[in-house]
Amino acid sequence: MIKVHMADRVRSLPPYLFAAIDKMKQEALSRGVDLIDLSIGDPDLPTPVHIVEAMKLAAEKPAHHRYPSYEGMLSFRESVAAWYRQRFAVTLDPKTEVLSLIGSKEGIGHIPLAFVNPGDVVLVPSPGYPVYPVGTLFAGGESYIMPLREENAFLPDFKAIPGDVLKRAKLMFLNYPNNPTAATASADFFKEAIALAAQHNIIICHDAAYSEMYYDGERPISFLEVDGAKDVGIEFHSLSKTYNMTGWRLGFAVGNKDVIAGLGKIKSNLDSGVFQAVQEAGIVALQTGESVLSGIRDVYQGRRDVFCAGLKELGMPINRPKATFYLWARVPSGFDSSTFVTHLMNKAGVLGTPGVGFGTPGEGYIRFALTQSADRIKEAVERIKSVMGKA
Ligand SMILES: *Cc1c(COP(=O)(O)O)cnc(C)c1O
Repeated sequence: MIKVHMADRVRSLPPYLFAAIDKMKQEALSRGVDLIDLSIGDPDLPTPVHIVEAMKLAAEKPAHHRYPSYEGMLSFRESVAAWYRQRFAVTLDPKTEVLSLIGSKEGIGHIPLAFVNPGDVVLVPSPGYPVYPVGTLFAGGESYIMPLREENAFLPDFKAIPGDVLKRAKLMFLNYPNNPTAATASADFFKEAIALAAQHNIIICHDAAYSEMYYDGERPISFLEVDGAKDVGIEFHSLSKTYNMTGWRLGFAVGNKDVIAGLGKIKSNLDSGVFQAVQEAGIVALQTGESVLSGIRDVYQGRRDVFCAGLKELGMPINRPKATFYLWARVPSGFDSSTFVTHLMNKAGVLGTPGVGFGTPGEGYIRFALTQSADRIKEAVERIKSVMGKA
């Protein structure tokens, strides 16, 4: 038997803070607890039928059974460009400014390999999607944490970043609408980010996975709508959340052609692209009618309203989300994010995610995902009320 030693990059991964929660959850489930799981950022609704039907037809075509092209079918990239034009009035060249991804996580995780040398800095928002610092670590880069604080509307404070850090920074991740805080960003914020990036030669990677999951008719903007964005960066996008397609693994990156080419170079050496049948179904997905999408939004909005109303009655301060399917709430005094999650789990059978799991600046918060029916969310609120002595 050989001795298996993990590489340093694996051993230096941050501790997986959700592991203890997963264990608690499994134990509760095996005890038969009627658990209301609000910890999962994965739509509970099925993929719309017209997309599934398109996939069935596409799967039968022998042409799709062979290796796909690395950068994605031109027809898929054209339909991404058409979608950006129609949704954001942004013009993209499908040949050079669009790249298909095996889900956006894949592209986000790989992009530091293209641009970050060992010792280079990547600016990473926190709390945030764990893939930003992990992709950085795998490339030998150093994450500089940009804390997202409530008093700054969960936007990074660029003025707080030291000059020597900016000098060493190669890449900056941003994510609006934001997971986990549900914050959105304005054109003015992106302008500020673009000016900073232009001044210090930093590539901006904006993760827009939640741009279509919005409420009250307030449509989030694309980073690429802002003047100069394409000079400094790219936007990651995904069909996962918009069309309930997390299992299909289809996303894309768009924007600066040199950055797109760099990511493409890494990918062509590591993977062989997205199953063409999935891309063909993706074309159909991107043409989905507004009525289907607003139907999905209405479902989440109804859930959000039930949850926010309940938490408000409880006196829990809550930022009513304008986008995403997350609620980011401060935990009551006397708890930290982990002890409150454990308390709710054990006493109410309601599972949230501890904010600290998204990075130290997330301490003091809990994230609830609106991925259960409105009835179950109502039930969760009632249970939380009785635990807090407010029933
Ligand atoms: C869900 C999510 C994604 C999308 O991931 P896919 O790999 O496209 O499924 C990207 N970024 C964030 C912040 C997310 O929460």
